[in-house]
Amino acid sequence: MLRYKAPLADIKFLTETVFDFQEHYQSLGLGETVNKELTDTIFEHCAKFCENVLFPLNRVGDEEGCRFEERQVFTPSGWKQAYEQYAQDGWHGLSAPEEFGGQGLPLSMGVIKSEMIGTANWSWGMYPGLSLGAMNTLFLHGDDQQKSTYLPPMVEGRWSGTMCLTEPQCGTDLGQVKTKAVPSDGNTYKITGTKIFISSGEHDMTENIIHIVLARLPNSPKGTKGISLFLVPKFTVTEQGELVDRNGVYCDSIEKKMGIHGSSTCVMSFEEAEGYLIGEVNQGLHCMFTFMNTARIGTSIQGIGASELAYQGSVPYAADRMSMRSLSGTKHPEKAADSLIVHPDVRRMLLTQKAFAEGGRAMLYHAAMLADKMMKAHEEGNQALYEQYDDELGFLTPVLKAFLTETGYESANLGMQVYGGHGFIKEWGMEQIVRDARISTLYEGTTGVQALDLLGRKVLLGKMKTFNEFMAQMKEFISQHKNKKQMKPLIKPLKKAMWKWRWATLRIAFKANKDRDMVGSASVDYLMFSGYVVMAYFWAKMANAAYGELNSCTGQKAFCESKIQTAAFYFERILPRIESHYKTMLAKPDSLMTLPEEHFLLAAHG
Ligand SMILES: Cc1cc2nc3c(=O)[nH]c(=O)nc-3n(C[C@H](O)[C@H](O)[C@H](O)COP(=O)(O)OP(=O)(O)OC[C@H]3O[C@@H](n4cnc5c(N)ncnc54)[C@H](O)[C@@H]3O)c2cc1C
Repeated sequence: MLRYKAPLADIKFLTETVFDFQEHYQSLGLGETVNKELTDTIFEHCAKFCENVLFPLNRVGDEEGCRFEERQVFTPSGWKQAYEQYAQDGWHGLSAPEEFGGQGLPLSMGVIKSEMIGTANWSWGMYPGLSLGAMNTLFLHGDDQQKSTYLPPMVEGRWSGTMCLTEPQCGTDLGQVKTKAVPSDGNTYKITGTKIFISSGEHDMTENIIHIVLARLPNSPKGTKGISLFLVPKFTVTEQGELVDRNGVYCDSIEKKMGIHGSSTCVMSFEEAEGYLIGEVNQGLHCMFTFMNTARIGTSIQGIGASELAYQGSVPYAADRMSMRSLSGTKHPEKAADSLIVHPDVRRMLLTQKAFAEGGRAMLYHAAMLADKMMKAHEEGNQALYEQYDDELGFLTPVLKAFLTETGYESANLGMQVYGGHGFIKEWGMEQIVRDARISTLYEGTTGVQALDLLGRKVLLGKMKTFNEFMAQMKEFISQHKNKKQMKPLIKPLKKAMWKWRWATLRIAFKANKDRDMVGSASVDYLMFSGYVVMAYFWAKMANAAYGELNSCTGQKAFCESKIQTAAFYFERILPRIESHYKTMLAKPDSLMTLPEEHFLLAAHG
């Protein structure tokens, strides 16, 4: 049977040794309140809640799923109670501003909390996760009235939120959104249309649900320039937040899905529902990007969680299950056979999962620190600094989202492989990880769309500005550590990969000037290449920190050695994957583009 143990030792290593979160909080002016004692206490409490309450409900959610009855949705047994406990313990408001009832703690603490929740029970975590995205959108783009009415009950957890973008005819291409918003009395609009695949669109956990909806005003420009953003509550409310009337927004059905069964995925019907404009007319997509970026970074957690949970499930099985003898000589002569864990190929699978889980966590925590700095700049009204951090985070977001979910899915599959045939059997729990993880590369922008965002928008249209800034950080790290004997085996390949990344970018940019299809044909390989290089940088940082701990004898020896060995594994056996991505991404688009459309159809129809 699977189990989940929160990775508190790794969290401590990253926040204290690799990144020094205390110094980071000091620099944000939070040093007085956010001390080590507080962060330790919060993470330990969160770990207990995730291990003891959420993780056992993960299986229940998979087996029971959500139930739909007369436009109502009922979540699996125990899920509502867990949500109530979560709200009572104040977890919703951990990183929310104090003026709206939150605890005003840094976003990065919320990210660490979300990682534990998302690993223990991703589907359950989607309910508070979507609320968080809705709260962030209102906080940044809502007017004072909207903030004071809607944020406090959401921070308390009495109300939840959703993100309503997708329609039957469009998911990626939101320029095709058809939902209508017709001006009505005063500041209100009548919202009419159908949204599909809406996570947490309807459920039984909260007394009200606040939908954040993309819709189009009459005579608005075509495409993305004519989309506005609206707040549509399930129940309309007074300014003081008392529920008034059932609004015209209903769940018509829920989807039957491959995984994440406990998360309700709803077809939502807006029937002249009362809605209120958020931000400016026709600026909806801009405002919605706040939500989408929160959600994208959130989804990268699903990838890390899949790697972590699959690893935690694989290790005890590989240690207990006996199969044949080690090629290099018997390891357990007293037993009928050696355990799986002696075999190099099984170790390859375990170390790949470990490298992706821990490497991904380091990437995530780095991004979380950037988010803290961005919020601080926003609070101080320093727009230039806010934009600088926003750009830096914007560059990393598609890498985090797509690379960490692709590697998360790979880790989940490897988990199943470690179990052999038993991995395919429900009882062991490994196949649930695979089914649940599969969605992560699809929603919040598919891997293909994230790759276009990275290469097309962030790197090429951005004239490589953020790319060069990230490279400057890597260069600094390389020059600081290149003469350390222990670090040489990592620094040399890191430097080579970094320059290759830059060279490939320039060559793609050059080729794309002549043939625009070059961008689309190179993009997914480019994204994966970027992900492997970025992760290599963070593995080098972790190895360096682990050497420091080992040398000073303050750290735990076995923990540090395992970090150093995993870094060596990553550099020797994972990073070389960039070579094939390099070759593929620089190939001309011809072999993709010359086959006429009708020939595809011929092949498909036999
Ligand atoms: C379980 C689940 C939960 C969801 N939750 C929400 C939610 O809460 N709110 C919400 O609004 N939506 C939600 N979605 C919708 C989800 O975000 C979309 O399904 C996703 O963005 C992809 O859109 P699509 O399904 O229309 O695929 P399409 O856009 O039709 O894409 C199909 C394929 O074509 C590729 N493609 C499309 N355009 C291009 C292009 N220009 N260049 C290259 N390739 C391209 C894509 O990468 C993909 O591989 C959810 C979906 C699911 C399944």
